[in-house]
Amino acid sequence: MIKLKCLGAGQEVGRSGFLIQTDDENILFDYGLKLHPKYLGKADSKKIDSERYTEQPLQIKEYLDAVILSHAHLDHSGNIPFLFKKDEPNLFLTEGTLDLSNILWLDTLKIAKYDKKEPFFQKEQIATAYDSAFYLDLKKTTEISENVKLTFYDAGHIVGSVISVLEMQGKKIMYTGDFRASKSILFPGYDRNLPKVDYLIMESTYGDTSHEAREEKEKKIINSVLESIEKNGKVILAAFAIERTQELIALMHKYKIEAPIYVDGMGIKVAKVFLDYPEYFNDYKEFKNAINRIEFISNYKVRKKVLKSNKAAIIITTAGMLEGGPIIQYIKEFGEDPSTKIILTGYQVKGTNGHRLETTGKLYIDGELFQPKCKVEHVSLSAHPDEKELLELVDLVKPKKIITVHGDSDVILEFKKTLENKGYEVFNPKVGDTIKLL
Ligand SMILES: [Zn+2]
Ligand SMILES: [Zn+2]
Repeated sequence: MIKLKCLGAGQEVGRSGFLIQTDDENILFDYGLKLHPKYLGKADSKKIDSERYTEQPLQIKEYLDAVILSHAHLDHSGNIPFLFKKDEPNLFLTEGTLDLSNILWLDTLKIAKYDKKEPFFQKEQIATAYDSAFYLDLKKTTEISENVKLTFYDAGHIVGSVISVLEMQGKKIMYTGDFRASKSILFPGYDRNLPKVDYLIMESTYGDTSHEAREEKEKKIINSVLESIEKNGKVILAAFAIERTQELIALMHKYKIEAPIYVDGMGIKVAKVFLDYPEYFNDYKEFKNAINRIEFISNYKVRKKVLKSNKAAIIITTAGMLEGGPIIQYIKEFGEDPSTKIILTGYQVKGTNGHRLETTGKLYIDGELFQPKCKVEHVSLSAHPDEKELLELVDLVKPKKIITVHGDSDVILEFKKTLENKGYEVFNPKVGDTIKLL
């Protein structure tokens, strides 16, 4: 008997958590957090209270024999330390994932303190998670528990990200985590040398979408950046801290953009961790050169200097959906100037400040609605596969059963139809559902 219980990210994106259960084993894939928008309520209401909150996956009563973490993004890693409150399960991941997750976990504690909220875990649990970690190399099979083997393959999504294959009871279970199919400036895309598997748990974020060619999107951003620089304007690039910030740094270098480039926020620490892992890159040397051209904004004094500057500049900063972070100060300072441009470079969840700015031209700053006079553009550089690329992976590993997760419900239902038309048996569990695999 092998069962899969969906603890989170069932017909939703965020708080991933999937429990594999047999008569003797409980093995967990990921344990993330879902971040809910800070400013809820009507977009045009004048002043509202801010309340940022995070949602956990369902709790686990069983003793965990192993925890496997696919990558460091908050929706997968965010609540891992919580698991170390009562037990000390073995944690399997890559070294890069642990380094990046650690930055995120500590930041979560900082945000909780700022919001005057009780976090789901404390520093002690982060330390215990660290002590319980086993780093696995890519493509090396390890016995993680009696009669259970695990192999990691490069998922091409961020530094450290993996596609996992579990072997138990003569069956192979693959969990894709988040993966990227197409080559980006930084990464080559996922390792195609994957085994055939029996059960495939796969992300379906863009299961009903066809992505525009990546290079076209990159050119759009570059042309827009050049247009603003020529007018001596500022370009504020809203970017997620892990991967997007570093990709934009590489993009500016690739096209030899000459204006000063500043990076502010958590993306700085992340870039430094990226430098420790050359094995994930297409061209590590070029990435290093790109980093060397950046001015990192390490303290308020340097930030003040940039905020007072009247020269053209590119500012790459967080939060990617404008839910706080240093970007708010830059928008406050430069948003009134029509020569400024704000470019949103990632997916904007409904209800977030970024989505609000894109759709209504307004955003909340310090609890007040603010309407910048500058241009706002959205060019989303996705790090996920589109429908065609998802189907390519399915064809490659030829599963007997497919479990679609990590996608909005309408996308998941659409993608299920597509897979069923190709003759596959498909499950799309909701949070709390259990599926019998064997
Ligand atoms: Zn991710
Ligand atoms: Zn994800």
